[in-house]
Amino acid sequence: MPFTRLGLRPELLDAIKALGYEVPTPIQEKSLPESMAGKDVIGSAQTGSGKTLAFTLPLLQRLLDDRDKDPHKGGPRVRALVLVPTRELATQVEKAVGELAKFSPVKCALIIGGASFTTQRDALRKGAEVVCATPGRLLDLLRSGDLHLRDVKVTVLDEADRMLDMGFMPDVRRIMKLLPASRQTLMFSATIPPEVERVVNEFMREPVRVEVDRPRSTATSVTQALFPVTEGQKGELLAAIVKSDGVDSVIVFTRTKARADYVAHCLDRRDIKCGVLHSDLSQKERDRAMEDFREGRCTILVATDLAARGIDVPEVSHVVNYDVPEHAEDYVHRIGRTGRAFAQGDAVTLVSFEEERLIPSIEAFTGQKIARKALDGFAYRVPPRLHSYEARPSSKFRIRRVIPRGGPRFRR
Ligand code: ADP
Ligand code: MG
Repeated sequence: MPFTRLGLRPELLDAIKALGYEVPTPIQEKSLPESMAGKDVIGSAQTGSGKTLAFTLPLLQRLLDDRDKDPHKGGPRVRALVLVPTRELATQVEKAVGELAKFSPVKCALIIGGASFTTQRDALRKGAEVVCATPGRLLDLLRSGDLHLRDVKVTVLDEADRMLDMGFMPDVRRIMKLLPASRQTLMFSATIPPEVERVVNEFMREPVRVEVDRPRSTATSVTQALFPVTEGQKGELLAAIVKSDGVDSVIVFTRTKARADYVAHCLDRRDIKCGVLHSDLSQKERDRAMEDFREGRCTILVATDLAARGIDVPEVSHVVNYDVPEHAEDYVHRIGRTGRAFAQGDAVTLVSFEEERLIPSIEAFTGQKIARKALDGFAYRVPPRLHSYEARPSSKFRIRRVIPRGGPRFRR
């Protein structure tokens, strides 16, 4: 089904065309008829499936329709609120709104921590109708009286599950309580954990649920591999991988901020240029790293999970997990960075002996075995273990096997 069949306004169709999108992605196709009819919608689909457009379109459509009915009689007012968990994501969503509103008079303000309070206040005074915000700074502006939410018609909670992980739910609740009851609420998330479900019950009205794919499955276009290697040779192997043919742009994930700095240092020492993204850096440094990476001035970005969640960098050819993520969900999110939308991509995970214990739960979570590989021509000091590792049952990481009564049966 083409976009033209959805009843979108011509300003929006033109913007979609300018962006080069031809057909809606599955989550867009399924959710747009509901959200454009004014219903509350909960959408879940894997990372990279086009959720941003799925909420930006109905939001703008609604605002433009309202504008026609009441061309700014009461002066500029905030009519739509998009809440997101991180500054980077806010910046990205604001950009997406801007691109879609290219042929419309609607303006969007970015309300995030780590940036000038006065600039943001001015943007509101100049008549931004859409606000794209992280919860903390939004609450600051609400408290100072520079912003009120009584005219909000549409609210979006993007990456609700991450909002929960990052401890924003109390703030989100506080904000939701300030919104007019008559508003439309859209929620998008890769997964819907129980605590998010509670927020849904509290703040959404008879929401329509739209789910695409199993949220836990990994993007199918991504080819995955495990690279067993000793901890001591990880830096060297990473350097060899990023220098391999066909590796054009890479996000390297680490478990901690300190590890991210360390990996950047390892690459630096080998004269490989990279950017770093984690939450201990200043906003300016984070923006700079993102921009250098997006513009291709720097082809390697080293990041922690939290910093990189939800960030959309279309050209990533590879994801390297320098550390095996502790949680299987994080594995899925990390490798969602590659193979986004309709592109191909590869995800490589460096596995030290100590990290082998984490692999079975990842394979169980994603429902697929991941191939073990060695990098051709790399001088391994210890031969990599290429056979699948049989996890020794420990109390925490035991794999439950169902053994039929009367003992195991064997296949002939
Ligand atoms: P999500 O929020 O689900 O992780 P995004 O909204 O960030 O995903 O979209 C991922 C990528 O897909 C973006 O680069 C976006 O430009 C692209 N995209 C979105 N919708 C379409 C479409 N209909 N056709 C082609 N590309 C699209
Ligand atoms: Mg998103």
